[in-house]
Amino acid sequence: MLIHQAIDYHARRRPNQLALITDSTQYDYHSLQQRSLNLAQALLAQGVNSGERIGLLGQNSIDHMVAFTACSRIGAVSVPLNYRLAPPETAYVCDDANIRLILILEPSVEALAYAIADARDGESVFMSDLNESHLPLTAAMLETQSPPISSPDDLSEQHATLQLYTSGTTGKPKGVALSHRNLSALMNNLSNANPGVLGVDGMDLVCAPMFHIGGAGSTIVPLLCGGAVVMHEAFNPKAVLEAIQKHRIREMFMVPAMILSLLRDVPNFDQYDLSSLDVIGYGAAPISPTLLKEAVERFKCGFNQYYGMTETCGTVVALSPEVHQRALQGEPELLQAAGQTCLGVEAKVCDSTGVEVPMGETGEIWLRSANNMLHYFNLPEATAKTLVGGWVLTGDAGYINEEGFIFLRDRIKDMVLSGGENIYPVEVENVLAQLPGVRETAVIGVPDEKYGEALLAFIAMNEGFTPPSTQEMIDFCRDKLAGYKIPRKLEIIDALPRNPTGKIQKMVLREPFWKNTNRRIG
Ligand code: ATP
Ligand code: MG
Repeated sequence: MLIHQAIDYHARRRPNQLALITDSTQYDYHSLQQRSLNLAQALLAQGVNSGERIGLLGQNSIDHMVAFTACSRIGAVSVPLNYRLAPPETAYVCDDANIRLILILEPSVEALAYAIADARDGESVFMSDLNESHLPLTAAMLETQSPPISSPDDLSEQHATLQLYTSGTTGKPKGVALSHRNLSALMNNLSNANPGVLGVDGMDLVCAPMFHIGGAGSTIVPLLCGGAVVMHEAFNPKAVLEAIQKHRIREMFMVPAMILSLLRDVPNFDQYDLSSLDVIGYGAAPISPTLLKEAVERFKCGFNQYYGMTETCGTVVALSPEVHQRALQGEPELLQAAGQTCLGVEAKVCDSTGVEVPMGETGEIWLRSANNMLHYFNLPEATAKTLVGGWVLTGDAGYINEEGFIFLRDRIKDMVLSGGENIYPVEVENVLAQLPGVRETAVIGVPDEKYGEALLAFIAMNEGFTPPSTQEMIDFCRDKLAGYKIPRKLEIIDALPRNPTGKIQKMVLREPFWKNTNRRIG
């Protein structure tokens, strides 16, 4: 299945079915289809060729989906750009992706677009504001039937359709080429993980950014299934709760930092009617069991954990709402699991030489499925290191138990080696999260003469709480962690540095401590 084929299918069967909703407008499937046909014509008129990459610049908007569908029709590849980066950083991405044409999806990013062009020596062509009449996309035209477009003869499911950049948590973001087949596989995984929720009766809310697989996947998939999606330009905790109540949202995807913000930053959280929620999908970064338990209790809906990465086109492992209930009813260790593999996904755990380790032992998680990316764009060496014999090497350390639950311990690059012991900081962070009044925590290794590396904890407090002293922290951890895993150093911080996907930037925390050494920080 190709992306535009799904939109055309739903437009044929239910033209008036709502597809996309924002505060100011809404589109049914017919409008989405027509606008994407018009944009496809305009792109052809600009001389865009099959396989060419088109940059999409703007906050989340309906036009992202119009552009994905239009590009799909002509075999071009959509590259949603991170509008929060500085112009030279976005220029780097545009060069890296070999982007010639950037679609400016909203007037507020026009200045940024021109700054990007300056940073690239003017090497960009723009099509600004898709509503303007210089493109054949006026409202009147939506009423008329656009001429059909014949897709390139060689267009197949294996064609790249979307190029997304990894979050850049451990290094420079890499461009991941994803195919139509990858997105179909994601649709299967999410549909199976949420029976009865995605489909023509679906009502999803998307507030994660479109330039990340979390936001892109959770917009595209419900539309492939024929449902409706409420789109927020960006994450705003109060607006999310209002939208759930107003639109009777059934499903949404959140990163843990968003869940934290919904619970902490909206004082009258408990007054919203959230009864329409069937399920909240969450993932993209570790969540502490303390936060997860509170979220399950206060949202009173199903929770589904998703584990995956840009390189696996998102979710390939899921922890079902039923397992969350098991966890709360006497099996708390399951709150630490990332989930079980989705249908058709294989997982194994290997040591650093690529040899599979016995069940229950920690190593690197390897994944194989129809979700496997095509390649990193223009990075054959990096591709060869990550795609090995049909498997994606995740860079995540973890183990698999006899029920097939995958437990993630941490990123391999974040592991701390102290006095000859491997320490996975997430385990320590999960304990520190239980300290009264703690909002968020991060643990890193810093240089230490005696042990090589020592643990340093960063803690940010909820408003109105007094931070613990170093000794109080040590005492709190004493009966919960082995001695070598207890941080001896503590820094209180207002807020942890996070990237636009909401992930903690440990590289930023490590940098001041390691900058005069040879050790990598990322
Ligand atoms: P980069 O690859 O550029 O360093 P990144 O790995 O953060 O950035 P993404 O592809 O957005 O880029 O994220 C995938 C990673 O996110 C996974 O490898 C894993 O470390 C983490 N992750 C995803 N889902 C979960 C989850 N449910 N629990 C814990 N960590 C998760
Ligand atoms: Mg990664």
